[in-house]
Amino acid sequence: MAGFEIWALGFCRRAMLVMAVASMIPFANSYGEGAGKPDADAGWALRRQGMVAQLKAYHITNAPVLAAMGRIRRHVFIPAAYRDVDNAYADAACPIGCGQTISQPYIVAYMTEKLALKPGDKVLEIGAGSGYQAAVLAECGADVYTIEIVPELARHARAVLDAEGYRRIHVLTGDGYKGWPEYSPFDAIIATCAPEEIPKTLVDQLKEGGRLIAPVGRGFQRLVILRKQRGQIEQEEDLPVRFVPMVRK
Ligand code: SAH
Repeated sequence: MAGFEIWALGFCRRAMLVMAVASMIPFANSYGEGAGKPDADAGWALRRQGMVAQLKAYHITNAPVLAAMGRIRRHVFIPAAYRDVDNAYADAACPIGCGQTISQPYIVAYMTEKLALKPGDKVLEIGAGSGYQAAVLAECGADVYTIEIVPELARHARAVLDAEGYRRIHVLTGDGYKGWPEYSPFDAIIATCAPEEIPKTLVDQLKEGGRLIAPVGRGFQRLVILRKQRGQIEQEEDLPVRFVPMVRK
């Protein structure tokens, strides 16, 4: 067996061990934890390490993305009514209320990796939802502007981001089809809800050399990655995905 395969096998065994140990530790939901505080219950941290091990097993390699997702307490972004030990760090989307979901960790990592962020990049997100993806972008060094159309979710995202210490992320209650002209152009744009086609307004708000990633389509959707190079738009289709629709007001 090649050295890499042996290493990979050892890695998988270690990851499974971490997950098995994590699943044996009983713990309740933690509420009211403040910014920057460690988890009151070590079980959450173990689950989070298990999630990161799985992201690596799924070939996410970008170190800042893995470090960010290893640090951010995904469980506190899931409203208490929907949070439990099995869903908070599982590789699955999870309800956050108002008929919306926090995205699957693998897709969050994949889309963030594809944006190839540099520290200080100005990034626009459409669909703040729980605020989790915005926190991942911020932990990767981006200056984040995020728009959410459902006022209750925008308030939730703001409150969790404040509690976790992300006061520099800007949250706007509004319609993402309009973008955020006051702060444009952006180095990168990410949509976490699916339009039928990429809105021209968003392409217009992308900087020269900028990247945009969005799930596109109704029913059947694909991730689309768009780049603006020397005034030209290059577009490539990527993974099939399933996101909530980007709605119009
Ligand atoms: N990024 C989120 C997941 C968002 S789910 C997270 O990390 O939790 C998609 C979100 O897009 C939902 O909250 C939905 O209300 C929002 N949305 C749908 N259409 C929108 C629009 N036109 N403008 C802004 N937000 C929109």
